[in-house]
Amino acid sequence: MKRFSTGPSAAPHTEVSPSIWLLRAGAVMLAMIIFLIDWLSSLDVAIAVLYVTVILMCADVFSRKSVMAVSIGCGVLTLAAFLLSHGAEWMVPPFARCLVSLCAIAITAFLAMKHMASRDALQAQIHLLHRSEAFLAGAQRLSLTGSIGLKMPSARMYWSDEARRIFQFDESLQPTLEYMMSRTHPDDIDDLKSLIEQAYARHANMEAEFRLLMPDGSCKSVRMLAQQVEDGSGGCEYIGALMDVTATKEAEEALHRSQSQLAHVTRVTTLGEMAASIAHEVNQPLSAVTTNAEAGLRWLNREVPNLDEVRSAIERIKSEAHRASEVIRRIRTLSRKTDPQHVLLDLHDVLHEAADLVRREVSRHRVSLVLQAADEPVWVRGDRVQLQQVIINLLINAVQAMSGMHGRARTLSVSLGNSEDGDATLCLRDNGPGISAQNLPNLFNPFFTTKPEGMGMGLSICRSIIDAHGGRIWAESELGHGASLNFSLPLCEPVAS
Ligand code: ADP
Repeated sequence: MKRFSTGPSAAPHTEVSPSIWLLRAGAVMLAMIIFLIDWLSSLDVAIAVLYVTVILMCADVFSRKSVMAVSIGCGVLTLAAFLLSHGAEWMVPPFARCLVSLCAIAITAFLAMKHMASRDALQAQIHLLHRSEAFLAGAQRLSLTGSIGLKMPSARMYWSDEARRIFQFDESLQPTLEYMMSRTHPDDIDDLKSLIEQAYARHANMEAEFRLLMPDGSCKSVRMLAQQVEDGSGGCEYIGALMDVTATKEAEEALHRSQSQLAHVTRVTTLGEMAASIAHEVNQPLSAVTTNAEAGLRWLNREVPNLDEVRSAIERIKSEAHRASEVIRRIRTLSRKTDPQHVLLDLHDVLHEAADLVRREVSRHRVSLVLQAADEPVWVRGDRVQLQQVIINLLINAVQAMSGMHGRARTLSVSLGNSEDGDATLCLRDNGPGISAQNLPNLFNPFFTTKPEGMGMGLSICRSIIDAHGGRIWAESELGHGASLNFSLPLCEPVAS
């Protein structure tokens, strides 16, 4: 919906005020009086010098052209008075007085013109300044960004209109650091205070993101950037911008929510695709349970029951039941809908759990899976379920890519290690058909698929998961020579227990 609104506009100033008319008339009258005295009186003084007052009066009320005309007029009147009173007899003193007056008029006119030129330039600057202020106010309003200034050590503050609006401070109120703190969310006050104190102590710039608790109980998120400027008197001023990022934060949170929902849906879809293998994986220990139970019963039903055999049958039942419940536990963890929880993980464990879940699917497609990993743990910080999802996705993709390949052994080697730049790297390399140079750049785009039944969301979700973990995911391949899909995650130091 388009919205238009207009604010009050200023009327153009074209009318000339009565006081200016009065000044103009006064200047003309004064010029006439000076002319008459200069012409008619017999005083031996340079009366015409008084024309400078006329020029100075005009400088405030006339344009530059008119002041020039008035100055020329005053010169002409001076000459006219001299000619009218001394035209016939030529005498040096009156002529010298006339010359002095003409010089005074010329110098005053020159200075008045200079003054008017700098006044006009100043007015043009003021006009430009007002325009810039209007531009800035508009831009601040649209971008929800205000300006603030904080003088230290007095803690006096300057707030632009938009900054006040963001904090919902009254226009009559002169906001101070205390007011700012009182509007800050109680959970963020201590952090903000120590940030300001540390920045001041270290002569550093400020950068902060904190929340505001508004009078109606709602929350706002603001981002603040401020630069330190020395003020020459030993103190300093922080001058910066303050942006209301509530909408961006809400959009980011909504995006994260939908990304994790989407990740959950695709996890469940992948589990659905592996349903046959999973059923087999659970069925195997269950059959073993039944077989061992029957054997145990047979040992019990003998005339002389063999309790040792019964015991070992029960032991096997216990371990098979445990195996089945482990498979079910892993599947339940994967299918559960929970918010991501970033904890310290050994990537070995995550890899082995993921590989165990797809092992049946891998062998069903006659692929030999080779895991190569160093013995030391590879610590990363992340969400176990999401990282498992990424590995399962990459494993299943490789298996599916190789499923159409005949007459050659299908191998998928997975290596886990540390990269040269200190990251944990997982590399899955298959000897399938590979990926064409044309498809390679689109691999991680949503809905890109070359499979008839494919959704094309798997790799795109893998990328958003790895991105959210501060890592990188990439593919390398040459058509006909297999593909290698890799991701790296920042290594973490395990916390000493
Ligand atoms: P989907 O599996 O639904 O197609 P993905 O995003 O998981 O979606 O995969 C996108 C595409 O990437 C696949 O359709 C396939 O063409 C290609 N691909 C992924 N892994 C491999 C691989 N190991 N070898 C060859 N192509 C692959």
